[in-house]
Order: sequence, then structure tokens, then C-alpha cells
Amino acid sequence: MKTSGNTISRKDFIRNSALAAAGLTLIPNIMAASPLFDPKNISEKGKLSLKNVRLETGFEYEEGEVIATKTDLFNIEIENGKIIKVSPNQPNGKAIDAKGLLMLPAFKDMHIHLDKTFYGDKWQAVRKRTGGVKGMIELEQKILPEMLKNSTFKAEKMIELLQSKGTSFARSHVNIEPTSKLQSLKNLQKALENKKKNFGAELVAFPQHGVFYTDSVPYLKEAAQMDIDFIGGVDPFNIDGAIEKTVDFTVQLALDHKKGIDIHLHETGESGLQTVEYLIKKVNENPSLKGKTYLSHCFILAKLDKAKQEEIAEKLAQAQIGIVSTIPFGSLIMPIPTLYKHNVTVLTGNDSIVDHWNTFGTGSVLQKANLMAQLYGYSTEFLLSRSLKLATANILPLDDKGNLQWPKAGDQADFVLMNASCSAEAVSRVSDVKSLVYQGNVVY
Ligand SMILES: [Zn+2]
Repeated sequence: MKTSGNTISRKDFIRNSALAAAGLTLIPNIMAASPLFDPKNISEKGKLSLKNVRLETGFEYEEGEVIATKTDLFNIEIENGKIIKVSPNQPNGKAIDAKGLLMLPAFKDMHIHLDKTFYGDKWQAVRKRTGGVKGMIELEQKILPEMLKNSTFKAEKMIELLQSKGTSFARSHVNIEPTSKLQSLKNLQKALENKKKNFGAELVAFPQHGVFYTDSVPYLKEAAQMDIDFIGGVDPFNIDGAIEKTVDFTVQLALDHKKGIDIHLHETGESGLQTVEYLIKKVNENPSLKGKTYLSHCFILAKLDKAKQEEIAEKLAQAQIGIVSTIPFGSLIMPIPTLYKHNVTVLTGNDSIVDHWNTFGTGSVLQKANLMAQLYGYSTEFLLSRSLKLATANILPLDDKGNLQWPKAGDQADFVLMNASCSAEAVSRVSDVKSLVYQGNVVY
């Protein structure tokens, strides 16, 4: 859409004509105030029928450029956690009325620390830092025992915050070190158990205090036998003083227990690059790790020259190692467009919501997609619509040619209903999430 004047009139025209066809009138304020899903409308357990659901159906082109996203209204049927049917809209049917809201894949926060937060507790700003990550380890050794006392409660509050922003799934790192031992994991597992009907998670056993710097080895070995999905890590050279020894341990533990790997790498010097290259080598030697190995942050990529960025992106893609980025801005800008160009998997997350590291997490990954679009100039209808994939862990309603690829019968019923006319608008405006459904269960 070319001008804001056109955007408004065109959007209203599309929305109003579709709603008129469905026998509806658009009254945004009332729509915002009334809950869509009155529990008494959800009769049969595990079954859910919706009408007037807006889905994207294609792109509209002018002189080869995508100028708008076409949508239409549909009926959606859900059973046993799956979408079983997507069919033409029946506005007069008995199904629950989605009121023309846009259905998008539910959002996924792929890097967060649900176990370690002040959220839900007293506000505390970050204190003056000394001694880098090692200084932070010293601080954690002091404050974690107190933080652990109500960490189940705080994790549940944080999950509710994520849900309010349309997120139904998280990859959470969970501290495994000699101070917390396995308590942070156990407390978080309790919170996830309490929320399991409405929220999914995968866990990374995270040696925040180093694998060897503080002896986390026995605890990591124990955690690997528990219900976790990834072996984590942090700055092997800066913390443990060794790249190969730490990476070798991590890789072996992951292989022994058939887990993935997700390592925090903040190092920006030569050791950062060496760590990336060594991990690529180890994954190529152990192909079962391909597609389930990730580097979180990986700031070193921002410090490389263009040619080296291209080379490393190509190697990461070949080894199927993904990058999880919070989309930093300021003094350090990640080469996200280069990663996309080479088909490297890129994920995002809030990392911190409110804790001793950072207090700026909004809980929204849609906001991260918006930030990415602003930072890298993804401002056209097409590029905005593609940016949604950062929030959904790479599920998009339309493929690059504008063919509908989501939702389809058989897909897991994880979705949001948004007050937006299309993905591009949702990303650009960080539109309101009106409803969240996880595995067919209505969260709100
Ligand atoms: Zn983190």
C-alpha cells in the first residue's frame, strides 16, 4: 500500500465490505471489549468451530510489486488440538463468531529465562555492573537463593504475560549450576505443569556459571537425564578459559542423551569467531546435531567484515545451525539480512523481561518482528509480511509467491486472532492480540 491515505480507505473498504458480506458491522471498541470466546459457547470438549475468520489468500500486485495482501473469511474447525477443516465462510452457521479478526500462527518466544526473573515481584532496576559476565556470576551466587524461593509463581506470571502478547510456546533456558543445582529446573517444571493445557515449552539446561569455571558438570549430567531438550552454554573462552574442552563436553552430552544444543555466545573478539567455527566443525562431524544446534546472540557476527559474514552464514546454513537473536540495536547490529539470504534459521525471544540483566522485555515477539522491520528497512507490504516469521518461528500464512500455506487441515491448532487486516499491518502496527488458542484450547 502506497500512501497512508490509501491504506486507511482501502483497509476499511476491505474490512467493511467483508464484514457486511458476513452480516456484521465493524465497531472496534466493542470488539475490543467483548471476549470472543464465552466458555458457554464451547460445548463439546476438544471441539471448536469458528466462523468469520480472516485468512490471507494471496498478494495483489502492481507493476510487479506486492501492493496489498488479499484476505477472505473462512470457517475453521478444530478437534483434538488440530485444525481439521478450513472451509468457505458460513456467516449464518452456529460456529463461534471470530468477527472478521485475522488468524495468524501463535507466536513463539525462542529465547527466554522463565526460571530467573523479578517479574511478578518487586520492581528492581539493573545495578551498576563490574567484571563482565564473571561479575554477574558472582552477583547471581548471592541473589539466586532468594530468587528461587518464589520462582514457580514468577514463572507462571511471566507465562501469562507472554500469552497476553500472543505467545503460546517458549524455549526457556534454565540455570543449572552449583548455586541453584537442579532447583531452578524443578521450580520451572512445576510452573509448566500448572500451565501445560495452555502453554508449551522446551528447556535448555543452561550452565550460566560456566561448565568448568564453577563445577556444573555433575548437575548438567543429571539434568540431561531429566525432561530437557537442549544442552546450553555460555562464552566458553571467557568463562571457562577453553573453547574446545567446553564445546566438546557440550557436544558429547547432547549426543549421549539425544538433545539439541543452544549456546549463549556474547564474545565479540577472535575467541567468538573461533567458537563459531569450532561448533560448525563439531556439528559437521556429528550430523545428528544438524537442525537442532543453535547459537544465541552470537554477537561476533556483527563484528565481522561483509565477506566473512557471508562465509560464516553459508557455513552455518550448511551445518544447519540456527541463530537466536534478540535483535539488538545501538552499537551492535546483527547481519540478519545476510543470515536470511543464506537460509540460516533465525529465531528470536525476549531473553529478559525484568531481571538483574535487563528490564526492557515487553513479552512480545511481534514487537521484535516490528523492530527487525524498522532496523533493516523491511517496510514494503511484502517485506513486512515476511517479517512475521520472526514472531512465529518461521511459519507464514502465505509463501513468497502468495500461495496459502497455513493453516491447513492437520496443522496444530495454535493461533492468534488479531485486530489487523493482514500480516504486514500486524507487524508494522504491533496490532492487538484478541485471542490465543493453544493445541485447540482457548487461552483467552
Ligand atoms: Zn539468555
